[in-house]
Amino acid sequence: MSLSIDTLRPPLNAQEPRHDWTRAEVRALFDLPFAALMFRAQSVHRENFASGEVQISTLLSIKTGGCPEDCAYCPQSARYDTGVRAEKLMALDAVLNEARAAKAGGARRFCMGAAWREPKDRDLDAVCAMVEGVKALGLETCATLGMLTPEQAQRLKGAGLDFYNHNLDSAPEFYDRIITTRTYQERLDTLGHVRDAGIHVCCGGIVGMGESREDRIGMIATLAALRPHPESVPINMLVRVKGTPLAEEPPLEPLEFVRTIAAARITMPRSMVRLSAGREDMSEETQALCFLAGANSIFYGPKLLTTPNPGRDHDREMMERLGLSPLER
Ligand code: SF4
Repeated sequence: MSLSIDTLRPPLNAQEPRHDWTRAEVRALFDLPFAALMFRAQSVHRENFASGEVQISTLLSIKTGGCPEDCAYCPQSARYDTGVRAEKLMALDAVLNEARAAKAGGARRFCMGAAWREPKDRDLDAVCAMVEGVKALGLETCATLGMLTPEQAQRLKGAGLDFYNHNLDSAPEFYDRIITTRTYQERLDTLGHVRDAGIHVCCGGIVGMGESREDRIGMIATLAALRPHPESVPINMLVRVKGTPLAEEPPLEPLEFVRTIAAARITMPRSMVRLSAGREDMSEETQALCFLAGANSIFYGPKLLTTPNPGRDHDREMMERLGLSPLER
């Protein structure tokens, strides 16, 4: 079925996000002429956000490498020879020093990532102390620690955790080509526990893993069906790391990445759409198109867990050139 641009006009109650996007509707967004898609995404963006404001987050790997999971894109999986060494959980002081530096560099949210399938309870004690410490510095807190039980989610909430990141990664039908050690449903279950604990959800995916456009459509439609929508939606471009099974994957065409960002913006109008991994290999022009398509969040800092990211000075200059300013609220 093909839909016309008219059928894609926002409903009269454009303020209320929809959770019933069909794949046909999301496909019709992807199929729009590029300028029409950009116009639609930018219109939705301006209805919901101040134009030109970008939320800045910093991501720190608090426990690197040695992960038992087999995510085909990930250099931290113990199954792939990528040169990433398994390290212990960082000490509290060291994490707080990094958080202070991130704050001084303009970050508003501090995300802590650990390469675990799921945290053990004694690990959670240490992470809760980190969350309390980072929060006391006046930063928003985010963690990504793998799967959580309802009790663990409650404990993190009690420590003051604002956001939990757990990505769906791709469409349900493509997912098992990328990960076999945990199911899509297990991911949805963790997201449910996080929601039930009253923690904001950060949930997105990765493109450029060899999936089809139809898979990208399926991923966006699945994210947009979450009720409520994730407050943050990171859209990552695959970083092809030597030693991982996806190292030789052909790069995704940049405009297709921009289309994915635009579809996320239109279908999840009030979410912060984060232009996440892959910026290091992206031209400034492509990033500018992503902001035009409605991306309004980036990670600041030279590293994203274990992969490179543009340096803070580089990003500051880019934001100045594009007339973007850090979100202060
Ligand atoms: S993405 Fe996370 S769960 Fe998967 S291998 Fe990497 S660290 Fe482990």
